[in-house]
Amino acid sequence: MTELKDLEISYDNPNWCPGCGDFGIWVSIKNAIVQLNLNPWEVVLVSGIGCSSKLPYWVKTYGFNGLHGRPMPPAEAIRLANNGLTVIVIGGDGDQYGEGFNHLIHAARRNVNLTLIVHDNQIYGLTTGQYSPASDLGTKNKVTPVPTVEVPINAMSLALSAGATFVARGFAGDTKQETELIVEGVKHKGFSIIDTMQPCVTFNHKNTYSWFYERVYKLDKIGHDQKNKIKAFERAEEWPLKRFLKEGEREHIPTGIFFVEDRPTWEEGVPQISKQPLVHQSLENIDINPLIEELM
Ligand code: SF4
Ligand code: MG
Repeated sequence: MTELKDLEISYDNPNWCPGCGDFGIWVSIKNAIVQLNLNPWEVVLVSGIGCSSKLPYWVKTYGFNGLHGRPMPPAEAIRLANNGLTVIVIGGDGDQYGEGFNHLIHAARRNVNLTLIVHDNQIYGLTTGQYSPASDLGTKNKVTPVPTVEVPINAMSLALSAGATFVARGFAGDTKQETELIVEGVKHKGFSIIDTMQPCVTFNHKNTYSWFYERVYKLDKIGHDQKNKIKAFERAEEWPLKRFLKEGEREHIPTGIFFVEDRPTWEEGVPQISKQPLVHQSLENIDINPLIEELM
């Protein structure tokens, strides 16, 4: 039985800014691994570059930290090499909806059996707050002094169009819901995306925790039909807005599961992969000395 302490890294602690939304997602991922009763050596966290992408350092599972926007190709390769592993991809909105969007689209189209969690803080946090593809229209801050005139990307609609078979949005301020979404996303057989609103307390002074608390609502509280793709598109188009707000108007941000579809996975279509036996090894039981000697 996996416990939270089994996932703790004893020698280091996250260096995110105090209050960063990354903490809520970090806790939720660990809670989800425990609830799914996965052993640490059965999980691989794969990330790109950004504040969020440092997350694999601080969970005691396998981890891979790669290039900006490029976690998806190694994540797919891991599934190719060992389809017994649970692969969770971590990226920011810049990483996934900017540099890496091409990879996201094709992983969704292929229906690779992995879970993508996007830490969506609507800016490039690691590089001090430049506007990202997810920034609200008119975003302005110290390093984006001229308000952006670009409409934000609609990640949920694009994921639906690309063929993602599990499409959801969470909020780092609601770790209970975020944990549930990660559990369901991992259990789902196919490509899962969980866009997670992640306040950057240092560089995004607009999309704060309180801003989200006043705007988020839960799809499961309004009887949303997760199997209905047309309804999923309608909900996805509610936010982000492609226009400025009218006077007295406020955004409504749907959270929860937008869409779920049962469709064969990429792995199932490739007999060499689908028949491959599971390979599970405890982190403690691997002897890498022969490999090191071979490479010396
Ligand atoms: Fe989090 Fe923003 Fe600090 Fe990065 S800069 S750790 S996203 S609060
Ligand atoms: Mg970001």
